[in-house]
Amino acid sequence: MPEFIAPVIPATLLAKLKGCKSLPSLPVIALKIIELARLPSAGTSDLAALIASDPSLSAKILAAANSAFYNSGSYNNLQQAINRIGMDAALSLSLSFGLTRHSKQKNNGMCLDTFWKRSLISGMAVRELHKLLNLKFDVETTFLAAVLQDIGMLALNELDPNIYGVIFHSARSHRQLASFEEREFETCHIQVGYWLGNHWGLPEKYTHLMVNSHLLPKEIQPQDISQKVLALSGLLADPWLASNQEMAMTVAYQASQEYLGMDEQQFSHLLLHIQEKLPEVVKLFELSAPANIDTFNLLQEAKQLLVERNLRMMQKLMLQQKEIDALKKSSARLQEQLKRDPLTGIYNRQFTEQQLTKHFTNMQEVDNHLAVIFIDLDFFKNLNDQYGHALGDAALKAFATTLEQELDHNCLAGRYGGEEFVVLMPGYGQEEAFNFAKRLQEHLAATPLLSHNKEDIYISASMGLAMHSSKDPSNKNQYFDNADELVKAADQAMYSAKRTGRNRILLYTSEGYQDLSIQS
Ligand code: GH3
Ligand code: MG
Ligand code: MG
Repeated sequence: MPEFIAPVIPATLLAKLKGCKSLPSLPVIALKIIELARLPSAGTSDLAALIASDPSLSAKILAAANSAFYNSGSYNNLQQAINRIGMDAALSLSLSFGLTRHSKQKNNGMCLDTFWKRSLISGMAVRELHKLLNLKFDVETTFLAAVLQDIGMLALNELDPNIYGVIFHSARSHRQLASFEEREFETCHIQVGYWLGNHWGLPEKYTHLMVNSHLLPKEIQPQDISQKVLALSGLLADPWLASNQEMAMTVAYQASQEYLGMDEQQFSHLLLHIQEKLPEVVKLFELSAPANIDTFNLLQEAKQLLVERNLRMMQKLMLQQKEIDALKKSSARLQEQLKRDPLTGIYNRQFTEQQLTKHFTNMQEVDNHLAVIFIDLDFFKNLNDQYGHALGDAALKAFATTLEQELDHNCLAGRYGGEEFVVLMPGYGQEEAFNFAKRLQEHLAATPLLSHNKEDIYISASMGLAMHSSKDPSNKNQYFDNADELVKAADQAMYSAKRTGRNRILLYTSEGYQDLSIQS
């Protein structure tokens, strides 16, 4: 059980409650019954004797015991009836009868007739739920808690009927009523009801249920059936009483699913059972019968409203999904941008190195080749000096584009530094890699990278090639311990190409560098 926290009522309101002469009070007989119920030794004969001292109450208890409330028994004496319905039921009935006779309708203020009907139908709902769903809970205690759950409303109405009348008549649902009360009184009727129950000496088993009667399904412990039934009971009464019956039915139907997991058939049976017994039961309590409701059509409308509401929610979810997709796309774009060199748009050094390491590591397992070509543009500084930095930039972009166009789809090229580029060729042998380098060299020789004032600008490149094959570690020409060594070898070969005149393709070997461009 969660720890019980007693509600707090603001001090000024409490003082007013204590000073109010016309608070709902229990008749003497009811107070005596409560006292009796507190005695562990008390039995049904003591209770019968007590009730018998009030002829009008006796008659009512007998009538109730014989009514649809208790499966239409046929008892003709009080003792027999109390024996049959039990001590707790007799107690609940006596108290509910005692209370309903209390207040008189004022000109302004809340509608007492509606109030008592709600309380009674809530009580009936508790009994019917017990029967219909075969639930295990203390039905008599929950019944009385249901009848008394909103008793605080009577007290607030007594304190200030003008204000309370406005609240009562303007609230569109019970939940809204409670929120209006909070705004006006900084407390609500369940807290006042709890105070009143204690004031009467009502045992805790009732007051604790009452004070928690507004809990939402997720706020109630799964095993606390009484509390769930009670929280649902008031909402089940509203279809007969609320001005907006469709809304009340929708709320009740949804609540029946959420509190007790009821299906449509159970819910509709419940409504029919209550409706059937309603005329007889309200009569017992000297109330007029509410008009019958069209349970079938109201329920269909409620279902329709719920479907529409679900549709609206789905549409909302779809919109949210679209936003999520857009975010994913932009995050994917950002991820892609992180891999790219901002000037040329090809991969940057960091990503190229990551990929190099990845291929190098994978290769160890699948026994394959990996070719790396290190490219450095020739005399690039001169280009900048002669034509300006902007043209240098344009040349770098044009070169990157050319590189990517010439590249096979399973190869990757990245910008390594200022005018340095690296090409990774997984699965490529020496000849294939060289052919690519040669093609690039020829392309650069045949096609100007860009033109300036009608002058075609050609740029050559020096390239170093290094090969790695995981097959034979003893082959020092083609075997490297790690990816760094491999790329360093390609870089060294490139420097050698620079030293030996530029615009060349040199292959790294353990003994030196082999000029492939001359060989071929
Ligand atoms: P070498 O043939 O020996 O490689 O001569 P080089 O002039 O190409 O080489 P060096 O390393 O002496 O100079 C590289 C030049 O590249 C210097 C630098 O200003 C230029 N550079 C580097 N990054 C950029 C860039 O982003 N844009 C431009 N326009 N120039 C750049
Ligand atoms: Mg350089
Ligand atoms: Mg250079």
